[in-house]
Amino acid sequence: MSIKENLLSLKNTFVNPHCLLVAVSKTHPVDAIRVAYDLGVRDFGENKVQELEEKQAVLPKDIRWHFIGHLQSNKVKYIAPFIYLIHGVDSLKLLTEINKQAEKADRVIHCLLQVYIAKEDSKFGLDENELEQLVQSEEIKSLSNVKIIGLMGMATFTDKEDVIRQEFRFLKSIFDKLKSKELPSNFDLKEISMGMSGDYIIAQEEGSTMVRIGTAIFGEREYK
Ligand SMILES: *Cc1c(COP(=O)(O)O)cnc(C)c1O
Repeated sequence: MSIKENLLSLKNTFVNPHCLLVAVSKTHPVDAIRVAYDLGVRDFGENKVQELEEKQAVLPKDIRWHFIGHLQSNKVKYIAPFIYLIHGVDSLKLLTEINKQAEKADRVIHCLLQVYIAKEDSKFGLDENELEQLVQSEEIKSLSNVKIIGLMGMATFTDKEDVIRQEFRFLKSIFDKLKSKELPSNFDLKEISMGMSGDYIIAQEEGSTMVRIGTAIFGEREYK
């Protein structure tokens, strides 16, 4: 199947046509990104800073680049001038550094807080208590060059649909709870980034507003 055919059949299976498709282009060459771009895709997701910088330099400037991986604080400066949305923010330290680099670049950078929802061991994401603490902290209020526009989560890697559905439902419930609270002025909660190639339909049924899809568009990744 070609990228074109993949994109068409993917869009046909969207439960929510308004859900944003972020095409995850990590490991794929710029030529593949250009094919998707020429078919109208403008949102692309990458998870390595250096790879993202290299691609951003040679591709059209109206691409909206999403950082979807684990971002190290010392690398924020390289993407701060152009990044559109950082999906995986999971500490005050990282958020503070994003704010600092955003200020230098004279921008407000949009971020999603990553919440840990899976049943498997993972180092990344905040649990419900940590999320609560971060949101309530004094420090977060003064970060005027970041805007927190939602939450991001990854379900357990399993083919058990009920497990995945429960986890996405849990993320949606955390989102709704958070949204009903009084929040600092740098919060404007509207996005829930959940769903990948294997589980985006369930994610959309459970309230996803952004899906991050690689394999179903570009095919299997080859890691060298
Ligand atoms: C790689 C990646 C994806 C895309 O995964 P596919 O299964 O290829 O669709 C989505 N989200 C994150 C955080 C990723 O690292």
